[in-house]
Amino acid sequence: MARKSYMDEGNEVAKNYISDTWADIFDDTHQFFHGGIESVRIALDKYRLRTGYKLEKVKIDQTRLTYRCVSKPNFKCSWHLHTVAVNKSNEVFKIKKYVKKAHLWSWNASEKSNKNIDNWMWFMKNLKECVDDREITFITDNGEG
Ligand SMILES: [Zn+2]
Repeated sequence: MARKSYMDEGNEVAKNYISDTWADIFDDTHQFFHGGIESVRIALDKYRLRTGYKLEKVKIDQTRLTYRCVSKPNFKCSWHLHTVAVNKSNEVFKIKKYVKKAHLWSWNASEKSNKNIDNWMWFMKNLKECVDDREITFITDNGEG
């Protein structure tokens, strides 16, 4: 299916399409997957495709499937999905635990501490007050790397 778009004063404006919802494909702990483990995997693929996050399986067998986020090496992301079979024939899975606190990198896992973040916020706040509404561009080697 081609993505529909139209021109709006020179800017291409994309219309909503189905995969826009894929980032929210996992709902909460009451969600069921009626196609068994395969339907969980398909949902995971859609989520991956839509968000670009790198997910890694933690545990997978006939009755369980657990994935975590490994998007950023050396950082512990809190995103976590744990699903379990709820009937004997394993045809229905449900979300047992979903930490969707979306992809907050754990700063504790790096050399950086919360204090650094506090200092940075303080710096930004004060800088903003100092320069008012002039436009600033930051160049830093301290970022995503
Ligand atoms: Zn993540």
